[in-house]
Amino acid sequence: MTSLLIRDAEVRGVRTDVLLRDGLIACLGTHLDAPGVPVLDAGGGALLPGLHDHHLHLHALAADTNSVRCGPPQVRTAAELADALAAAPGDGWIRGVGYVETVAGMLDSAMLDTLHRERPVRIQHRSGAMWTLNSVAARLVGLDSAAEPGVERDGDGRPTGRIWRADTWLRSRLPDTGPPDLTAVGRQLSRYGITGITDATPDLTPLSLAGLIDAATSGAVPQRLNLLGVPLGHTCDPAVTVGPYKIVIADSDLPDIDTLEAAVRRAHDLGRPVAVHCVSREALLILLAVLDATGAVAGDRIEHGALIPAESIEVVRRLGITVVTQPGFIADRGDDYLRRVEGRDLPDLYRCRSLSEAGVRLALSSDAPYGPADPWQVVAAAVARRAPGGTVLGADETLRAPVALERYLTPLSDPGGRPRTVAAGAPADLVLLEHPAAQAYSMPDSAAVRSTIIGGRVVYEQ
Ligand SMILES: [Zn+2]
Repeated sequence: MTSLLIRDAEVRGVRTDVLLRDGLIACLGTHLDAPGVPVLDAGGGALLPGLHDHHLHLHALAADTNSVRCGPPQVRTAAELADALAAAPGDGWIRGVGYVETVAGMLDSAMLDTLHRERPVRIQHRSGAMWTLNSVAARLVGLDSAAEPGVERDGDGRPTGRIWRADTWLRSRLPDTGPPDLTAVGRQLSRYGITGITDATPDLTPLSLAGLIDAATSGAVPQRLNLLGVPLGHTCDPAVTVGPYKIVIADSDLPDIDTLEAAVRRAHDLGRPVAVHCVSREALLILLAVLDATGAVAGDRIEHGALIPAESIEVVRRLGITVVTQPGFIADRGDDYLRRVEGRDLPDLYRCRSLSEAGVRLALSSDAPYGPADPWQVVAAAVARRAPGGTVLGADETLRAPVALERYLTPLSDPGGRPRTVAAGAPADLVLLEHPAAQAYSMPDSAAVRSTIIGGRVVYEQ
């Protein structure tokens, strides 16, 4: 294993040297002596624990890079969408992402055909919950004869072209290109100072799971990798860790309490906490009722918590559930929320400070590719809570930058817990900034990341 001496770094406000050895932080101190060990001169830049993104989707993030943007800010009108689809590189399937109804209304096959009818097109709704296929694509995947319940049909039983929450089925009908290569994504996350990731994709197929384990083993993804979508009862390769069991409460089709309760009990009985996707008020209330009945276990989490009514905060705290939320959506989609979310719900949107002050265990994350992947952008969004148009959404929910960043420094296994620190004996998962921390907090920006170190190995250098 390699050693590295980081000279003159700012750790918790104090200038110090830090010696890394065998993947761990060996010691801190002034004027450390380590003959023959390579030296990295920090020049007073802040040395922090590496960032952990507690909720993102690696394969979707990789696929997103090769996809046509179908929503704002790149595309705002039907005509712009038609142009973007016509300009798609390649000659086979076109994969569109980020669609929202403000562009051309609720899409279906017929509408999509008017925008592009030559190549097979599939467009994902910005929520990630729905795909719409044009007629060529619908024919190629056999939408007409599909038995999949997620395939929406009109009154006459004809598919509309919309497919709800059936990604696994859809993937099985597409040309098999295997899971996408994650090297570029791993590099991108290293550039942000991220040293640990929780992939929140539900129900990982054997192929997806193998792809993720491969990426971890080969180093394509150098970050520590924690997976929520590992099937219950499945033992995983030690290259990754198995997190809580992901359950999606689809807001388009709320489950009955008994079904959800059975799913939670099944996971708990097998020793897995649950991570439950919850974006609506109704979904949250159902989940809280279920956890009240089953009892919560350490590690249970609410993913997103996009709408948490004030009266539920105390229940969430009492149950000890962690809320893994994404204030980055405010900066990304705030204008749209202002138009589409009911006025009474706006104060409940992506709460941060009220949760934190009430003693709720809180973690921040990106939900990339659906939200901005850059954690510094998410921290800036948590601080300002400014929609793209400038309106502040939830002025009472702002966090101070150090508090927001700390919610990225918690362990993958305990996202709502205490932030990790740069201390002797801890894993050498670190991010070195160009400047002292105070400067990074005053204007959070990933450009300040100078070096990212995982297990004592430098994986990114500016
Ligand atoms: Zn997600």
